[in-house]
Amino acid sequence: MTDAPASHFTPRVFSGIQPSGGLTLGNYLGALKRFSEMQDEGRECIFCMVDLHAITVWQDPDKLRHNTRELTAGFIASGVDPEKSILFNQSAVPEHAQLAWIFNTVARMGWMQRMTQWKDKAGKNAEKASLGLFAYPALMAADILIYHATHVPVGEDQKQHIELTRDVAAKFNHDYGVDFFPMTEPVIEGAATRVMSLRDGSKKMSKSDPSDASRINLTDDADTIAKKIRKAKTDPDALPSEAKGLEDRPEARNLVNIYAAFTNQSIDQVLAEVGGQQFGTFKPMLADLAVAKLSPISTEMARLLNDTSEIDRILARGAEQARDITAPILKKTYEIVGLVGA
Ligand code: ATP
Ligand code: MG
Repeated sequence: MTDAPASHFTPRVFSGIQPSGGLTLGNYLGALKRFSEMQDEGRECIFCMVDLHAITVWQDPDKLRHNTRELTAGFIASGVDPEKSILFNQSAVPEHAQLAWIFNTVARMGWMQRMTQWKDKAGKNAEKASLGLFAYPALMAADILIYHATHVPVGEDQKQHIELTRDVAAKFNHDYGVDFFPMTEPVIEGAATRVMSLRDGSKKMSKSDPSDASRINLTDDADTIAKKIRKAKTDPDALPSEAKGLEDRPEARNLVNIYAAFTNQSIDQVLAEVGGQQFGTFKPMLADLAVAKLSPISTEMARLLNDTSEIDRILARGAEQARDITAPILKKTYEIVGLVGA
């Protein structure tokens, strides 16, 4: 990660995950693992369960409540420490939604229409999709900019939304003649910034994918993880000994990327070790590695979920800490815009 952009903004990390289902291996390698690493580098970190984003597609209320607590447990079990980082749920900090409304007036319809996530999630049924799903990136810009966050660790799929966040900040600053919102940098690092579905190497692994076999859930037991990896779609060839040999082999590349991310190695380092192996040998090795890395996390999540009052206490305290930052930034935004009585 490069350091803060040359500006007057203090380096501050923000990111969020939707409680839209159980956490996946993609969420872990692309986001959670990176979050705890950034926290441990000593950066100021703010992490959010973005429940207002989750309801842009239908969520059963009881499941949403459970998913929000389970997601919080997932953050903590992955190494995010509520004593070092601020952890809270989005709806408990109303300034996110308030700033999002201002950004709805700054962002343009055309910007939203170009978003890949909108096209993927609304699909052919765009007329029936919620207005919230369309406006999702304006709320995401607000999530980030209500903290004047300078760095946002995300998976590759969110890069376009961070670019839009920069467009919103630039247009706001320009329209009102201020230098108030920073140009946030995406931090997309590691070997697995885009973990693919185990059933289809052209599709990203997602917690909302209807097929459970497409993903590894952080709560899957050892047998389930091993079975899903064994059944993962692959081709009949042996693994190559250099990264170039993975170019037209998305499924093979995905499994090697996952191995590299777990072991903090480069693709070439992994291939130097496993090049020439058949999947019959590589898959059980990967399964053992995945179980060894994930089972302490799922055990800790289960332990934390035994006492939801402790999780709720952590979220409530995090929301208070968050509001100490968001309230003055929203107040200043209202003043800039000319809204009286803020
Ligand atoms: P949904 O299907 O509901 O959109 P999701 O699995 O895409 O769920 P999000 O809450 O949208 O999860 O994203 C949380 C974080 O996880 C983001 O930083 C996103 O970039 C990252 N992420 C999601 N899927 C992957 C993936 N397959 N590989 C790497 N990172 C991912
Ligand atoms: Mg997503």
